[in-house]
Formats: sequence, C-alpha cells, structure tokens
Amino acid sequence: MSNAQYDPNNVFARILRGEIPAERVCDSKHSFAFYDISPAAPVHILVVPRGAYTDFHDFTSRASNDEILDFWKLVDKISAEHSLIHHGFRIISNIGPDSGQEVPHFHIHMLGGKALGPLLSPSNT
Ligand code: AMP
Repeated sequence: MSNAQYDPNNVFARILRGEIPAERVCDSKHSFAFYDISPAAPVHILVVPRGAYTDFHDFTSRASNDEILDFWKLVDKISAEHSLIHHGFRIISNIGPDSGQEVPHFHIHMLGGKALGPLLSPSNT
C-alpha cells in the first residue's frame, strides 16, 4: 500500500536502509529499535516499523495486524530485556505539528532508567 505523504528520505528511513548508522538495540521481522542520538533519559530507545508510515495514526490505520503485533511485542520485549519493566518507564509518540514531531516516520520513544517526573510542565495546560 502506498503513502504519498511519506518522505522516503527522512532520517529513520535512511537508518532502516543502512545509509546512516544507528546504535541497534534489537529488531524483528517488521520493526527495528535503536538508541536515540540525543538521549532525554538514561535509557532512551526508539522503536520504528520497517514500513513507510508517517505517524501513529498512519501506522494503526494502514499497517497489517502482523506488523502492528510485531511492533508492540518488540516494545514489550525491550522493556523486559533492558530492565525497564521492573522500575517503570514511559512510552511517548509525537504525532504531527502540535507534538513537535521531528522525524516523519512513526516511532515511539521508550524512556526510563530513573524517575522521570511529570509528563508535561504546568505551562502546557
Ligand atoms: P520526534 O520529535 O518524536 O520526531 O523525535 C525524533 C527523535 O529522533 C529525537 O529524539 C532525536 O534525538 C532522534 N534522532 C534524530 N536523528 C537520529 C539519529 N540519526 N539516530 C538516532 N536518533 C535520532
């Protein structure tokens, strides 16, 4: 299925094609996980589908059940293998302009390794 909105030259597409390096965490048939280049917590892992999806809605509405299951199972596997599940962690996905999404390839941030504090600053309400 094509997606005319998708920019095939975004940085995560280039990582998936092996054109630029990334510090791999693990991968699966349909998904790939790597460390964020600018970590916002002691553990900051990005998980992306291999397919061309711009954001969460695009992924959830167009990806196959197999891709969606593969993605979330990999997230859960990482949470166990990187000791995130024991102390707790946070999943964030930025979607569109108001969120400040920088890279237009669907991804989630897995953040942990310390107490993370409030989700947003009070000025955001
Ligand atoms: P977002 O604002 O949700 O789109 O987040 C994009 C994230 O990608 C940021 O946290 C960046 O630090 C991260 N990032 C950008 N380029 C790279 C890269 N080459 N390798 C790893 N992470 C990256």
